Amino acid sequence: MSRNKQPNSRDKSPDKSRDSVDQDQFLTILTREDAIERFDAALFPRALPSESCELAAVRGCALAEDVLAPIDVPPFDRSNVDGFAVRSADLATATEASPVRLMLNDEVIACGTAPMRAVLSGSATSIATGGPLPRGADAIVMVEHTQPSANRAIEVRRAVSPGQFVAYAGSDIARGEALLRAGTVIGSREVGMLAACGISQVRVVRKPRVAVLSTGDELAQPGETLRPAAIYDTNGAIVAAAISENGGEASFLGAVADDEAALEDAMRKALSEHDIVVLSGGTSKGAGDVSHRIVARLGKPGIVAHGVALKPGKPLCLAVCDGKPVVILPGFPTSAMFTFHDMIVPVLRRMAGLPPRSDAKVAAKVPVRIASELGRTEFVMVSLVEGADGLIAYPSGKGSGAITSFAQADGFFRIDALADQVPAGAEAEVTLFTPHVRVPDLVIVGSHCTGLDLVTAPLARNGLVVRSIAVGSLGGLAAAKRGECDLAPIHLFDDKTETYNTPFLDQGLELVPGWRRMQGIVFRTGDERFEGLTAEGAVRAALADPACVMVNRNQGAGTRILIDRLLGDVRPEGYWNQPRSHNAVVAAVAQGRADWGMTIAPVAHASRLGFIPLAEEHYDFALVTARKHRPPVQAFLDALASNDARAALAEAGFRPA
Ligand code: AMP
Ligand code: MG
Repeated sequence: MSRNKQPNSRDKSPDKSRDSVDQDQFLTILTREDAIERFDAALFPRALPSESCELAAVRGCALAEDVLAPIDVPPFDRSNVDGFAVRSADLATATEASPVRLMLNDEVIACGTAPMRAVLSGSATSIATGGPLPRGADAIVMVEHTQPSANRAIEVRRAVSPGQFVAYAGSDIARGEALLRAGTVIGSREVGMLAACGISQVRVVRKPRVAVLSTGDELAQPGETLRPAAIYDTNGAIVAAAISENGGEASFLGAVADDEAALEDAMRKALSEHDIVVLSGGTSKGAGDVSHRIVARLGKPGIVAHGVALKPGKPLCLAVCDGKPVVILPGFPTSAMFTFHDMIVPVLRRMAGLPPRSDAKVAAKVPVRIASELGRTEFVMVSLVEGADGLIAYPSGKGSGAITSFAQADGFFRIDALADQVPAGAEAEVTLFTPHVRVPDLVIVGSHCTGLDLVTAPLARNGLVVRSIAVGSLGGLAAAKRGECDLAPIHLFDDKTETYNTPFLDQGLELVPGWRRMQGIVFRTGDERFEGLTAEGAVRAALADPACVMVNRNQGAGTRILIDRLLGDVRPEGYWNQPRSHNAVVAAVAQGRADWGMTIAPVAHASRLGFIPLAEEHYDFALVTARKHRPPVQAFLDALASNDARAALAEAGFRPA
């Protein structure tokens, strides 16, 4: 059991001044297991409401009660083949040498035709597959085993056993038999069984109605234009979709501003009309984060956990308000999704009458050491690639604020709260996001460039799965040396030889020339300080104006080397702003946080900024020679050399090598 103090919200006074005092007890961070235990204890056992559901809408629901077969299936004895209904005793002596002749009755039993005449000894009746067996007949001979004979007769050259090719009434499903048990999750096969019995409605566990709310002054809905400092509401859409995937009926109620009264109204309304309320954002205990204060007064017993030792996902808040789960997910989409899947999906599925998820798991090797915070259960998202001896799990480490780290990963593994690291080479059990691993055909690990997509597009169109993992040039080279990728895109400048890339290649790697990217000074079009100057002139002009702010690049970036050469020992305003990507440099200039920086031409042009060319950077590929023969690698090399790719690169502002 937990050593943490159990929150005792029952004696909480409604008085607002006490809320802040009460909140303090939730500053205790619970372990994941303790949080789950408290949440479950406050919610279960519970009765699951049921409803009647039409066959067409029943897929994915859990049956609320046993379904007994109301009829026999098939409802009558019927023929399984096209042939003739016979009396088997008539054919006891039939052989190739002495066929038996049977007179044909004046009737053809088609599907859906009730027979009118009996089959008397010495006669047969023509019958189609699915036709009801006529009185007197006890077997069917296949039409292939008969010969037409003169005067409306047939000859049969083999004996038949009683019951041959007959499907008896109730042989598939017997009336009164338990067709499907309560709790069964209805899929297409179960729908088939219900339909075969003529059942058009069943009682199922009612899908929990889940209200989804976002909160944050910064949120805009997809489809709206983005105002300055706003971001799109990602959680609303992703949580609603994940709810449908797990048996709930989601209603997205929109994003509410960080306004306590408005949010409380929205949450109270959501709670009154739904079985579950899932809010995201506003869980941090900073100013402006009000949602947990509201939840604390929505109903009993109230908050059961606020702060869980999870990474990502620490600010998760779990509450039960008058019997209904109310959850506040962390704002960062990846944290929101992990906590949702780990802590909320089990509750949602239980309330929907569904069994726990059975996610597929695979073993994979972790290629790099991963440090982990002691005391927090950590989830690491990974991309899977095929290594020399088995699967390799690449951490897709963009941090919990990155939606792509969730969307582009194949799965995740867990680092125990008691571990402070996973050593390089360790085996991990990876839980897959999809039922199967699809190992990519071509793996590209290294520096990312928008030009890369132009080259790999035809491969993807031809059905190859290309996985490109952005870890920077040096990370790519390391992966290539370990044989974990086919190609590592790099743009590394060697100061000594004043050349790109080649000096960095180790044994086993060879250079495939890629394209050139023009590096230069980016500024806002119309900025008089820079228009019409050379790059060197522009930097001089910038340094001459104390009000002029630059944006730098991170240490180790090829672009940074060029900047440092231009600046010498000068450290102008903005020097310490060192983002890790071209796009961030361009955004800083476009949004006026900086006046100039260095980037590549295509990125500057895409944002319609002014650009002064300086020097070309070489973006090439370190190819793992041992993997050169692989057809997908050849397909990539062909695509790279193709006129189409060269034209597309040139069009986008790159210069193919
Ligand atoms: P909060 O929990 O409100 O402090 O939010 C933490 C971070 O998550 C902030 O950067 C928010 O902008 C971001 N965030 C909050 N809600 C959403 C959302 N619905 N979609 C995308 N990002 C969000
Ligand atoms: Mg917020």
